[in-house]
Amino acid sequence: MIIIKSEREIALLKEAGRIVALCHEQMKKSVRPGISTLELSHICERIIRENNATPSFKGYGGFPEAICASVNEVVVHGIPSKKQILKEGDIVALDIGACYKGYHGDSAWSYAVGSISHKDQLLMQVTHDALFAGLSKVREGAHLGDVSAAIGEYIKPYGFGIVEQFTGHGVGHDLHEDPAIFNFGTPGTGPILKEGMVLAIEPMVNAGTKNVRILSDQWTTVTKDNSKSAHFEHTIVVRKDGYEILTTL
Ligand code: MG
Ligand code: MG
Repeated sequence: MIIIKSEREIALLKEAGRIVALCHEQMKKSVRPGISTLELSHICERIIRENNATPSFKGYGGFPEAICASVNEVVVHGIPSKKQILKEGDIVALDIGACYKGYHGDSAWSYAVGSISHKDQLLMQVTHDALFAGLSKVREGAHLGDVSAAIGEYIKPYGFGIVEQFTGHGVGHDLHEDPAIFNFGTPGTGPILKEGMVLAIEPMVNAGTKNVRILSDQWTTVTKDNSKSAHFEHTIVVRKDGYEILTTL
């Protein structure tokens, strides 16, 4: 069941989203060669707690840290570590969630560490633009499949792998609510969007194969061919004529 949020709930979700956006603003400055992914997680956790929220991912299903930090071939759910020091040419996807008064904000962004290759730049740009291609279809009365199809069709001409095992999702009291939002699909199919639905839309795109595997820590998900992967995500609310991004300042 897709829960419609009241304007009171949307205000709380917006505050959660603002806190996540504050973290990403700081990450733009903090991501650089020589910093560990654990340090990035600690910076985000401090910002989240200073704003009277809690990190949504810490303890979620046993996840040990505040954010997911997925470097290079890691697609999602990378565990921050003091041993993982970012180096020039890496790309890192930081997925950040904050819970404010029981409501979650969820947003992921891929960052370049120093200067990166043109190929990696393209991968990141296409994934970012695919998110916005999907968002452009969001409005009351549209089908969810219109959004999924727009994301998939945007990526297709580039020949990148669209991850199928992980999807976007509804967001609210729970970090993951209905519906699952695939990053490929068919227009005119799936649930009809209504004003007040809150959705996290999040294309995950691999430079090579779409296939992934999960490492023995049960979290870290990598591309099967070790190609790099990018991830962009916003939490948004469906409006009559479009959408409003909640994970923004
Ligand atoms: Mg996320
Ligand atoms: Mg998400």
